[in-house]
Amino acid sequence: MIYKKLAQLYENLSSTTKRLEKIDILSKFLNILSKENKDVMYLLLGDIYPEYDERRIGISNQIAIKAISKSTGTEANEVTKHWKKIGDLGKVAEELTKKKKQSTLHSHIITIEKVLTNLRKLPELEGKGTVAKKLGLITELLTSVSPIEAKYLIRTLIGDLRIGLKEATVRDCLAKTFFKDPKEASSKIQKAIDRSNDLAAVFELAKTGKAKNLEKLHVEIGKPIKAMLAQKAKDIKAGFKALGKPCAIEYKYDGFRLIIHKQYEKIICFTRSLENVTKQFPEVVKYIKKYTKGNSFILDSEAVGFDSKTKEYQPFQNISQRIRRKYNIEDLEKKLPIEINVFDILYYNGESLLSKPFEKRTKIIKKIIKNHPYKIIHAKQIITKNEKRAEEFYKKALKDNQEGIMMKNLKAEYNPGSRVGHMLKVKPTEKDLDLVITGAEYGAGKRSGWMSSFILSCKGKNKGEYLEIGKMGTGINEKEAEGKVTFDQLSKLLTPLITKEKGKRVEIKPKIVISVTYQEIQKSPNYNSGWALRFPRFTALRNDKPLSEIADLEEVKRDFLNQKRNWKYG
Ligand code: AMP
Repeated sequence: MIYKKLAQLYENLSSTTKRLEKIDILSKFLNILSKENKDVMYLLLGDIYPEYDERRIGISNQIAIKAISKSTGTEANEVTKHWKKIGDLGKVAEELTKKKKQSTLHSHIITIEKVLTNLRKLPELEGKGTVAKKLGLITELLTSVSPIEAKYLIRTLIGDLRIGLKEATVRDCLAKTFFKDPKEASSKIQKAIDRSNDLAAVFELAKTGKAKNLEKLHVEIGKPIKAMLAQKAKDIKAGFKALGKPCAIEYKYDGFRLIIHKQYEKIICFTRSLENVTKQFPEVVKYIKKYTKGNSFILDSEAVGFDSKTKEYQPFQNISQRIRRKYNIEDLEKKLPIEINVFDILYYNGESLLSKPFEKRTKIIKKIIKNHPYKIIHAKQIITKNEKRAEEFYKKALKDNQEGIMMKNLKAEYNPGSRVGHMLKVKPTEKDLDLVITGAEYGAGKRSGWMSSFILSCKGKNKGEYLEIGKMGTGINEKEAEGKVTFDQLSKLLTPLITKEKGKRVEIKPKIVISVTYQEIQKSPNYNSGWALRFPRFTALRNDKPLSEIADLEEVKRDFLNQKRNWKYG
């Protein structure tokens, strides 16, 4: 299939914001897409591999600018100027290619396979001469394509496709295109996506039109699976009301999610963003080998830091640096030890447990894990219908420096990737949010040269929409200190993500997820979310959380209403 066809599809999809129209446009395309070309499904959402695969294109704006410069014969600073004016490198590539095409006539046909082949070579390149090799692969494509193709090629390279297509829309489109009962099919397709994280594999089976075939996609050891997410409950009473009695209540550990796969000697750990972090946590491999039974399993757990001397649990931000650390791993293992708190099991000795009730899964955990405090334990849990007992357990969790409790329905299944109503978190005050940085301002005086104030955004209603909710400058350090993030570090993380500059202000591509606490949420016309955080304070870089998990408007509103309730009732 030629790439022009896909570029035209992108163009048609971005010409409407209406979901149903998008589905109609995509449906025509999926109808003619053959099984052999199924990898196009990845490109539709801007990827080159399935979601579970860690390899990403990872081309910076700077390399993209160089490639546009080379392929269109325009000076790089001209490209940059143009980009700063219109804020979209894809459009810049389109316009400059158009200009060039007027003077030269040749244009070749580029196939989707060729595009994929070149793009897939990019993440493999390492070491000396990498930039030149990357530029070679990109310009080979860019010099041959038409203006529209150039636009989408560049947008794909920098990970900003801007066609407003969500995975959920693709799912509904598959259901409508290939099934008689699209509504029923849609939920089956979603399950298949959640189990496999592989849209091309799902497409291939959906194309058969038989819902039964979708069940062929199973959880597989070694292939990361999305974590099940929790909703919030106001308090224990509300939790019991929503879940029924009795239910399981566990500590809500203040650490980071770790999903651990084991098959005989092979052990792999993934974060909730499906990142493989096995190398960063050698102790997890040791603990699993030593203190668990079973040939193969997938465990869901929270890794929590503790002080090696006092044995007191530590807040997440103290250990967060371990997640991305590539060197001195052993030092860090000693300095910032973690305890693995296992709270779920998804697969055991050749069998998927996703549709088994939680009470059964929890029994299996007890059977296969030998508790070794400060190494690996079954998450502290009670099963009760007694509110008083639940309150006592909650108090104990807080005294142990944990965030609160999780309340879980005993009969519920495990739904990967879903924010479910059968697992509820209860925390004392709802005064923290996970948000993304979408802008910044450079500082003056002592802070000159650094970004020193940051615009925070939450998720809007549409995919890829981020709405501003406040400005933050506290909680970040000027000097380096244990467990603290500095202005310098944050500025370095954000600089490659700048999309527009105006004086001291910059706009930033939403990527860096952080946790903040705040004093209060107010309604506000000053930010386009309609809300403003008073005194937001940085608490941690959430490099373990994907962008899809930051707070949305609903959560902000819920926290606003909860805080009002607390004022009323003390
Ligand atoms: P939040 O990140 O605030 O949405 O809270 C949900 C997170 O709490 C999960 O994604 C886990 O990382 C974490 N967590 C800590 N303890 C537990 C537990 N016992 N059961 C489930 N999740 C837990």
